Parts: sequence; structure tokens; C-alpha cells
Amino acid sequence: MTLAEHPAVPADHLLGVYSRAPLAFERGRGARLYTAEGEAYLDCLAGIATTGLGHAHPKLVKALEDQAEKLWHVSNIFRIPGQEALAGRLTASTFADVVFFTNSGTEAVECALKMARKFHWANGNPERIDVIGFEGAFHGRSYAAVHAAGNPHYTEGFGPALPGYVQLPFGDMEALDAAVGPTTAAIIIEPVQGEGGARAVPETCLTQLRKLCDERGVLLIYDEIQCGMGRTGKLFAHEWAPDATPDIMCVAKALGGGFPVGACLATAHAAAGMTVGSHGSTYGGNPLAMAVGIAAFDEISRPETLQHVRDLAGFFTQGLKGLQDRYPDVIADIRGKGLLIGVKLIPNNREFMALARDQHLLVAGGGDNCVRLLPPLVMTTEEASEALAKLEQACEAVRAKAAAT
Ligand SMILES: *Cc1c(COP(=O)(O)O)cnc(C)c1O
Repeated sequence: MTLAEHPAVPADHLLGVYSRAPLAFERGRGARLYTAEGEAYLDCLAGIATTGLGHAHPKLVKALEDQAEKLWHVSNIFRIPGQEALAGRLTASTFADVVFFTNSGTEAVECALKMARKFHWANGNPERIDVIGFEGAFHGRSYAAVHAAGNPHYTEGFGPALPGYVQLPFGDMEALDAAVGPTTAAIIIEPVQGEGGARAVPETCLTQLRKLCDERGVLLIYDEIQCGMGRTGKLFAHEWAPDATPDIMCVAKALGGGFPVGACLATAHAAAGMTVGSHGSTYGGNPLAMAVGIAAFDEISRPETLQHVRDLAGFFTQGLKGLQDRYPDVIADIRGKGLLIGVKLIPNNREFMALARDQHLLVAGGGDNCVRLLPPLVMTTEEASEALAKLEQACEAVRAKAAAT
């Protein structure tokens, strides 16, 4: 479309960057969303893996309400006890020693990339600036994040490419071995790709990556913004792989259960270059975000929650494989890890999403013609059965449509 063809002002006055479903919700509870007219939808996308504990979880609502009456914001020029409490929890359960809190995943990625370059600069290796990323990755929408992921749809038209970013094919360990050199600062990877279509990096690859980074003096950054916080049935997805901890890790989405918060976790070693004044944020880690973050962390990190995720993931996968057997003309592949499930389709994934919506089932899109199932971690088995039945109806609708044309 040329500029002249554009409507001068869209009716909703919103920048036209989203392809939105024609639906609005008024309230939610657990895995259900309700329109203003009271129509219920089963939520199998959880705000893109963000409302991990479902909608209006009583413990999160209480934490937010209690904090809202006490204190909203003070600035990071003061100690914020909630940050110390959540950082304590995050470091006690991971490889990390220190945490920087942000408002979003993108900002956590931005912090990780800056930290990696600063590490080498502070160590007397300022030539180490290159960040290696992988095809199909998504790391957010800032300049650095779009170049780290390298998806041309997100970089095209936005000016010259940032220097120091390298893209490699997904899972190509040979290409990686050849690409890592004396100017490499870091490798950034999602242990399970989200937007790219629920593709899990094989556990042996993560272990190999860790080894390669150690041998070559390169920092390993995990983007666990989507696959972390219980989504795969472990607190973080890389825990499935032996000896594969990163130096730096980005977390967000389910960390705040729907309240905007992100975090960049690091070892003391990797964070050594980040001295006073080198980074900061106005809102990052403010008391409201921390109150909700602590409540969400305590709920998600419970062994019972993580066990439930593993059980429910098994139930979904088995049901979906059954569907694939019955509808080989609709479903091409089932993949992903835990409750980050990709269903690769034969018909167009956007059309399938609309047919699922007709059944009052909400699923997310994804790369490689997938739809992603990202149910809340607390979805019940009964709700999961209902989701599978609705998916079957959607498969039937695909057939009916094909027969009619
Ligand atoms: C959503 C997402 C981001 C970006 O997070 P925002 O909060 O939208 O900035 C980055 N990486 C991954 C893997 C994501 O899923």
C-alpha cells in the first residue's frame, strides 16, 4: 500500500501494527475469558505464555491489592526490599548470582547484550563484540533485539543493520563451531523457540553449546522469556539438559503473571563489567511489579505446580498425537516441550486459529505454519480434554470447508 492509499486516521486511533482478532474480553478467571456479553472462551494461549497462573489468580490479586495500598513507586535511587526478595529467590533456584529487573522481555534482552559486550571490554578484549543468534529466534523489538534474532520481517526498512550480529541456521552445530572466533562476544538462544514455532533445541546441543562457550571464552545467553517460569515442567527449560547452565539469562512473561516485569539474571563473573551508572531503569523492579512477581514465583516454583505441568503436557501430547492420527490431512506435526506445544498444520494456521475461535478456543499463532498451545500452567485435566475436543471440532471444520470447495 502506498502512503496515499492509507486511511488518514484509523477508526480506533491505534497505530496499525497488530493483526487483531475481532474479540474483546471484559474479565477472566483461571483458564476462561469472558466477553462483555458473557460469552466464555477457553484460553490456550495465556496472553502468549504470560498469565502462567491463569487470569485473576487469588494470590496474585491479593499481592497486587495489598501493595497498591502501601506504595507504588519510589525509584531505584532507593533500596527496594521486594527486589532483594525476588532476586534472592531467583538466584537461590538458578545458576545466577545477580539480577537486574526490567519492565519487559525486550529490556531483559537489551541488558543481556550490553552486559556481554561490557564483560569483554572490561576484560581487555574490546574487539569481542559479535553476538551469534539463530534463525527462527525471537528476542523482542528493540534495535538490538531484532538484530540479535535477525528476522528480516522485523529489521527491513529500519535503517542500516546494527554491526556485530551474526545469524546461523537453527541447530547447525558445525556452522556454529566455524562461526565462533576471536571477535565473538556471546551466543544468544532460546532453549525452546517460541514465536519460531515451538522448536526445542535438543538437550545434547545445549550441553555442547556450554562446552564450546567455555573453550572459546564466549558468554552463553539464554532467552527463557517464553520457555521459562515453569512452562516446560521445570522452572527453567535448560534444566532438562545436563551441564548446560548459561552465563546470562533473560526472563519475563510469566514472571509477572500478566503484570509487566522482566529480569536479566547473570553470574557474578559475567556481570563484572556492569558497574554503577552503566545501566538503569525508572520503573524496572518497582514495588508493584515485585509484589506480584514474588507471589507468582512462589506459586510456580512449587514442586506440585511443576509436576502438574509435566502431567498435563503428557496428557495434551497424547491427545494431540491421537488427533494427528485421525486428521493427517490437517495436522502435520506435534512438537515443542512441556506446555509450549506447537501444532504444525497443513491448512493455513491463521485460518485454523479462526476456526478454533469459532469453537470458543483461543490458541496462538507461530512460525512455520504452527499454532501454539500455551495453556495456563494451572489448567485442569477436564479443561484440557475440553480443549482437545474443540480442536477436533476445528479439524472437522477444516474438512467441511475443504469438501465445500
Ligand atoms: C515475548 C518474547 C520476548 C519479548 O518480550 P516483550 O515483553 O514483548 O518485550 C523476547 N523473547 C522471547 C523468547 C519472547 O517470547
